[in-house]
Amino acid sequence: MHSTSHSVIAWGCRYRAPIKLSFSYLTPRHLHRRTRELSLPTVAVFSTSTISSGCRLPNRHFTGNSLFSRMEIMRRTVLSHLISMLFYVSKQRIWTGGGINKNNEMLDHLQRYGVIKSKKTAEVMKSIDRALFVPEGASPYVDSPVQIGYNATISAPHMHATCLELLQNNLKPGMHALDVGSGTGYLTACFAVMVGPQGRAVGVEHIPELVDSSIVNIQKSAAAQLLKEGILSMHAGDGRLGWPQFAPYDAIHVGAAASEIPEALIEQLKPGGRLVIPVGNIFQDLKVVDKNMDGSLSVRSETSVRYVPLTSREAQLRGE
Ligand code: SAH
Repeated sequence: MHSTSHSVIAWGCRYRAPIKLSFSYLTPRHLHRRTRELSLPTVAVFSTSTISSGCRLPNRHFTGNSLFSRMEIMRRTVLSHLISMLFYVSKQRIWTGGGINKNNEMLDHLQRYGVIKSKKTAEVMKSIDRALFVPEGASPYVDSPVQIGYNATISAPHMHATCLELLQNNLKPGMHALDVGSGTGYLTACFAVMVGPQGRAVGVEHIPELVDSSIVNIQKSAAAQLLKEGILSMHAGDGRLGWPQFAPYDAIHVGAAASEIPEALIEQLKPGGRLVIPVGNIFQDLKVVDKNMDGSLSVRSETSVRYVPLTSREAQLRGE
């Protein structure tokens, strides 16, 4: 088995980068340095220049070429700072989720921050409204996991997006996809829409109540017809054993962290197929396992993550 470990930056850190702007606003020079150090996404760089342009304004006009009086320049400078501040505050609100009240806004945000890069991921996440899968009373578009009962959570939108990005080439029309620890059914529904009527999307979840509620969720979503036609199916069972009936799979996603990669999932992966699975206990890595055409495996770590454990139903219900 060939194993490559790429440098791992905690996704949370990368994604929370705009928080730095609060300091940066006051010290634009630091911002530029931080921007480079952290390789902030484009939107952060954009807001940087917006903010710092306010700071540069006086120098340009004090050269003597200005039509404005010094008072006018001062007024405009203050105004410009205020606008920058407002711009920052409104972005911060969107960031923390208070302003994200629509699925599309959440997606715009994920695209702007470079989490969603492909049209395919954007399209499928647009077609499956996250609100249908998040328990009532919770904020569906905030970028954080949400408790769904039974010591389980629906993953954060950026994790769903990351996994869809990693698997998109193995979720082409006609392909087979398996979602282990399918929870709310959100990702299984996305998989079904991507593989389409010629394909097959299978969810396996070991809490029967969650299987039932995931079916109800999917019935309200854009994947309802695929569920009705049996192209998408949700099953109660131990996902560590995969779901041999529809194997081999082009894509396997595991939504809970395994201490080791289950052998059955490797066996049920098609040559050319890809498995995305969080591995580890306290420290977990999202592993990308590619089965080569000769049956050998290539494994790499995508990023460090925090998932609930892939375990037995009893252990999960005890909260272990
Ligand atoms: N992708 C899902 C993640 C749910 S959390 C979503 O976003 O909705 C992880 C899920 O894995 C939980 O629902 C948990 O019950 C399930 N799980 C944990 N161990 C399992 C196992 N051995 N077999 C099947 N499901 C398992």
